[in-house]
Amino acid sequence: LVSRKQHKSNTIIPLKGNTVVGNGSPIMVAGPCSVESMEQLRTVAAALKAAGVTVMRGGAFKPRTSPYDFQGLGIDGLRMLKEVGDEFGLSIISEIVHPAHMEIAAETIDVIQIGARNMQNFELLKAAGEAKIPVLLKRGLAATLDEFIHAAEYILYHGNSQVMLIERGIRTYETSTRNTLDISAVPLLKQETHLPVLVDVTHSTGRKDIFLPCAKAALAAGADGIMVEVHPDPQTALSDANQQLDIPQFNDFWNGLLGSGLFT
Ligand code: PEP
Ligand code: MN
Repeated sequence: LVSRKQHKSNTIIPLKGNTVVGNGSPIMVAGPCSVESMEQLRTVAAALKAAGVTVMRGGAFKPRTSPYDFQGLGIDGLRMLKEVGDEFGLSIISEIVHPAHMEIAAETIDVIQIGARNMQNFELLKAAGEAKIPVLLKRGLAATLDEFIHAAEYILYHGNSQVMLIERGIRTYETSTRNTLDISAVPLLKQETHLPVLVDVTHSTGRKDIFLPCAKAALAAGADGIMVEVHPDPQTALSDANQQLDIPQFNDFWNGLLGSGLFT
């Protein structure tokens, strides 16, 4: 069902307002790693709105490596995202980690994210297939493109054709970046499937100093969008403190992309 051979034309996914994913003009998805407070969300939302960015991310359910780390605000976080999305007119993307939360997701957010750690959580993929809102599926930590494509196939097979893929880096022996950004995944996924393909520069590289060239490379390779984490005060962030841009840094990143001519 995801194969380009069966379905030649690109899948196009409308979000709130005039925002569309997969129509040839890339989208920017920005926002904090974790939802922490209304003030935090409003500060980021206002900055995005001022910059003309229409899609915001924020994690309410956080799959953390350590059980002692901040686990997210859960359903309260989804409700906070809804309030801010409504207030600022932004489309909201947030991760869901349990099939039981698909219903509340459909009531509160615009796109369900399935995280890298859950790319092969097949019951979650089936539940996302039954959901009535679009899904952003992240590539697994060590998933091949074939496994990634099959994970997407689950969602379509279970009834939801509004699926976007996102490359977020894979595990390799290289230690200079958090993961290895697989740029070749972009043209390959675009050739093999008809789904929109995004690139997460934050979780792939983990390095703010190379977000801009990596985002440019992604767009030059045909990506339909970029994801980046933005926090009003990254040093105090409850997760991913080292790899979130503050608002002036985000504005520089965004202006750099706009100035490159790749973001049209
Ligand atoms: C995220 O985007 O919030 C996240 C946890 O990323 P990943 O699943 O790619 O690690
Ligand atoms: Mn993060």
